[in-house]
Amino acid sequence: MENPVAACGVLSKMPTAAATEPAHYALRVGEQHLELDNALGARVRIEPTGRIFCLHCGRATKKSFAQGFCYPCFKGLARCDLCIVKPETCHYHLGTCREPEWGETHCFAPHVVYLANASGAKVGITKPSQIPTRWIDQGASQALIIARVATRQQAGFVEALLRERISDRTNWQKMLKGAPAPVDLPALRDELFEQLAEKLEALKAFVGPEAITLVDEPVVTLSFPIERYPAKVTTWNLDKHAVVDGRLEGIKGQYLLLDSGVLNVRKFGGYEVNVRIEPEGTAVAETGDLFM
Ligand SMILES: [Zn+2]
Repeated sequence: MENPVAACGVLSKMPTAAATEPAHYALRVGEQHLELDNALGARVRIEPTGRIFCLHCGRATKKSFAQGFCYPCFKGLARCDLCIVKPETCHYHLGTCREPEWGETHCFAPHVVYLANASGAKVGITKPSQIPTRWIDQGASQALIIARVATRQQAGFVEALLRERISDRTNWQKMLKGAPAPVDLPALRDELFEQLAEKLEALKAFVGPEAITLVDEPVVTLSFPIERYPAKVTTWNLDKHAVVDGRLEGIKGQYLLLDSGVLNVRKFGGYEVNVRIEPEGTAVAETGDLFM
């Protein structure tokens, strides 16, 4: 980034890629992608206009539900249902899926079960196409696929078993305070599989042996563009603050780390904002500078 950039539009989740080291990020504002490569040190200003638009149907909404949806979409879309967070509770077979066709495409498709380390080891599931995006979004420094499973619900069954021994949560404040202590993920996987061997066998017998494959794959390591971690995590909130303003010191997960506080970009999906990013040294001289 060399020149100041500005955009106005609806904020959505930051697109990421791990092909670069550190991970690549952009800020998506409406149709515009403001690339954030080499943006550390830049002054970032994000000013909400007060309007919020549903990321699915586009209608104006007073309040955002589930990180960017209007109330009717929040209540009507399968992707906003509780079974997405708790896939073992999939209720498609009862004929009550909110959007059976969406479910068939998104849930009755292969998923992976993984271990990741963003704030200590945790277990999670996702679709293969979401790798490594999912891990970047969580701010994970290490990740390891441990099982390949035929459907989302079955992956949820495996995850539910693993949750008896390991968390499925990231402590986001800890994640934002520094890189986690490295974890030997293959050793952890072996230990979990050993401890849960009987239950895993029973599950395989229940869902069909070909539905769950325990795998031995390479550990993936990820890094983030970070100059400095905040000593104390304070958060910016587009519902409360008229303008977010600060110097960009890092990007991790879906957070912008500004010297004035952190902003969870994903949380404010659907918020219409005016954004201006001024790379270090390009800021328009303010009055004080004229006398230097
Ligand atoms: Zn909507």
